[in-house]
Amino acid sequence: MKTHCTEELTRRDIVKMAVAFLLVPGMAEIPVPAHANQLRIENRFSPLNKKRPKRPYTRYIILHTTEGEEEGSLRKIVRFGEAHYCVCLSGRVCRIIDKNKLAKHAGRSMWEGISGIDRYSIGIEVVGYHNRDITDAQYVALTELLRQLKSLYNISDEDILTHSMVAYGRPNRFHRESHRGRKRCGMIFARPDVRARLGLESKPEYDADVKAGRLKVADRELFSFLFAAKPKETLVAAAGKPSVAVSSPINAPEESSVIGDKYTAWHIARERYNDPSTTYIFPNGKKLTGDQIQDWARMPAGTRVVLSGQEDEQPFEGFLEIGKDGDKPQELAGVGFDKSTTIYFFPDGLIRTGAELKKRRSMRKFLSNSPKGTRILVGYIYGGHVKTRRRPASIAGAKWNYPSTFYRYPDGNIVNGDNIDASSIPAGTLVFYQE
Ligand SMILES: [Zn+2]
Repeated sequence: MKTHCTEELTRRDIVKMAVAFLLVPGMAEIPVPAHANQLRIENRFSPLNKKRPKRPYTRYIILHTTEGEEEGSLRKIVRFGEAHYCVCLSGRVCRIIDKNKLAKHAGRSMWEGISGIDRYSIGIEVVGYHNRDITDAQYVALTELLRQLKSLYNISDEDILTHSMVAYGRPNRFHRESHRGRKRCGMIFARPDVRARLGLESKPEYDADVKAGRLKVADRELFSFLFAAKPKETLVAAAGKPSVAVSSPINAPEESSVIGDKYTAWHIARERYNDPSTTYIFPNGKKLTGDQIQDWARMPAGTRVVLSGQEDEQPFEGFLEIGKDGDKPQELAGVGFDKSTTIYFFPDGLIRTGAELKKRRSMRKFLSNSPKGTRILVGYIYGGHVKTRRRPASIAGAKWNYPSTFYRYPDGNIVNGDNIDASSIPAGTLVFYQE
């Protein structure tokens, strides 16, 4: 048995091997994997695990920080199938999605020109915060988990990335172009000294998507932190500290929850700046939620931003929304706004392609002015209805269960391809898949 399979050894396997060792004299040389008991793996499979498709291939490992306490974070990750593994404070590792299947952890992401990084990566959540060091037990567990996965999938150290490296945001009121800086998640794993402790000898030296002009840098501090060749001296001191149960802060870019010269609402809340779950408390004590704010240019300094614990990646990843991502279809869909590959989901339930809207005089007005809340898919093919004799695979081909494929049920619910159960799609469900 090769040692790279040790991660899959259950306790029962080890017992079996021990029994074989005792009973069969000829098998006395069975090599017991050296690292088998260094990793305490526990199954905590997501209810979505069964439905998740296999990943086409595996090139990256993406490291995340939960940004919340252990049990609550774990419950949410399990519920939504948001990682393959979660490394707890004690060093216990929970297995959430089968390692060969797709976990939804990176959201809107791009690296080296490839987008939708979930399809090419293993996602590991580490209980903790992006700007705090992890516990010694987590260092031990994560080092071993990475060692096994690297060898299993033949992943190089430079391809072990942080969520903050690969996440990107679409244009919004604060940034006119697609940009890096959507998340700071997992950024401590970019620190050279942290990586060294994890047995990683190298890291990405630059951001190829920024270099090629595909993305702009929206968070300079984060960017220089991620690609710093050497940690500052003060940073070195923090790592290698004695074991503590609770992680301590590391020297990371400064953060604030108060709007000021350096911090806009976007800096603090990122893509949730205009979300109803984000609350702004003005210096005069007045409170407004993100969706109630009209003038972002006139946010008074001293306004405090309170984020709720709710996640931001579900379930309309891939959709653009009028009133949120921009005000006019052309801003969102660009030159293709009136083409058949741009699909409009109106708040009243009506669905039309850009080409259909253009053809009908009575509907043309929606191309220049779509109602707030209209969701738009760009670069999609409208695949029509699922029927008993017209199954998803015959409509969308291999893409039928891609996360980027959307099914709209007759009741208006929208489900991603990777969450769909092909045997129970109601008749009349519509399919939309990427060109
Ligand atoms: Zn993350």
